[in-house]
Amino acid sequence: MGAASKLAIKGGPKAVQTDPGDMFTWPIITQEAEDAALEVLRAGSMSGTDITKAFEKDLAEWHGMKYALGHSSGTAALHTAMFGCHVGVGDEIICPSLTYWASALPAFTLGATIVFAEVDPNTITIDPADIEHRITDRTKAIVVVHYCGYPCDMDPIMEIANRRGVKVIEDVSHAHGGLYKGRLVGTIGHVGAMSIMSGKSLAVGEAGFFVTNDQEIYERAVAFGHYERTKEVLTLPDLKPYAGLPMGGFKYRMHQISSAVGRVQLRQYRARMEEIQKALNYFWDLLEGVPGVKAHRPPRDSGSTMGGWYTAHGLYAPEELGGLSVHKFCEAVNAEGAETSPGANLLMHLHPLLNEADVFGHGKPTRIANSDRDLRQPEGSLPVTESMPERLYSIPWFKHYQPRIIEEHAEAFRKVAEHADEL
Ligand SMILES: *Cc1c(COP(=O)(O)O)cnc(C)c1O
Repeated sequence: MGAASKLAIKGGPKAVQTDPGDMFTWPIITQEAEDAALEVLRAGSMSGTDITKAFEKDLAEWHGMKYALGHSSGTAALHTAMFGCHVGVGDEIICPSLTYWASALPAFTLGATIVFAEVDPNTITIDPADIEHRITDRTKAIVVVHYCGYPCDMDPIMEIANRRGVKVIEDVSHAHGGLYKGRLVGTIGHVGAMSIMSGKSLAVGEAGFFVTNDQEIYERAVAFGHYERTKEVLTLPDLKPYAGLPMGGFKYRMHQISSAVGRVQLRQYRARMEEIQKALNYFWDLLEGVPGVKAHRPPRDSGSTMGGWYTAHGLYAPEELGGLSVHKFCEAVNAEGAETSPGANLLMHLHPLLNEADVFGHGKPTRIANSDRDLRQPEGSLPVTESMPERLYSIPWFKHYQPRIIEEHAEAFRKVAEHADEL
């Protein structure tokens, strides 16, 4: 065994030697973005809506959609999207358990509850084959998450939803600008909501928005959390009488420093996204055929892409590496100088908040407070989802196509996989 191939965790040289420089610096804030923020401060227009409306126009055009509605966060955008889809007391949404909590938890304050569906183990997005049997006459919406950037299989999802009269909310927080068979994610379901907080690939600040072509969803969202616009927007007879006050009791407008910075970031987004895609596709090309590690990306000729590849992950097959745990695998890759950590988001269906907590004083768990049955999902009920923490690891989120640095990081993963028997 040559010295260079000795694992760093066993005292060998690290695979990653080159200083990554600005490779992982995020968000990228230019002078133009700084100036835009300062202009808002100097004008004292932080709480207005004029810049937010201009940003919404940009966002609607960028997505080719009729409406965009800016929010204070992605969580808020998902909340009003759910209300927009008539999710209310006793209703159910269907959502994967393996996602950031905001995809699902806003349902609780609407008096609704959550039924979790399985994910496909290769895409880690909701499994279309595990949706329909979970639909009841209380199901109002399916929240699909383009998880870690991978576009959900929207064709079968839309077929089921439209046939069963259920709305589809796309959570695009990981996949801004991604394509599903050539179509922009967020524009395929009834409403596409997304976070643009500063860690996301479309990196702005605390903010979020949704896009939709559905006037009722748009108006309901305005009625719910944008009281300052109710008088100019509301036309529907079940909403219009309440103009002037927010039906949800929430105030969800976007901070205009976010709107102003967002306008700049959006103009630069496509170029940044394409560079990220080039860098991460190169990383995975380098690891093609290495045992135990598999790319999480759509097939090359599918017309589907990973957008800005937020929270980039890889698939792990311990059975190809003599049963080596993903924890030990990641520890050895870290020792090589590359950042990775095992698993992904915690599984919501196993958390006490979804099983025991009585949040609102119903005298029973909030999850089933307004339900006609106990729909809690104990350990063992979602076996594919439950296997995922042992089968996923984060990968470096390269922001630039700098081949040498990417090659060294890929080498860290390759080296550990090829020497797994020594661990
Ligand atoms: C970040 C995120 C959200 C929430 O957005 P915030 O802007 O942080 O409120 C929702 N869903 C997913 C999948 C996310 O990653």
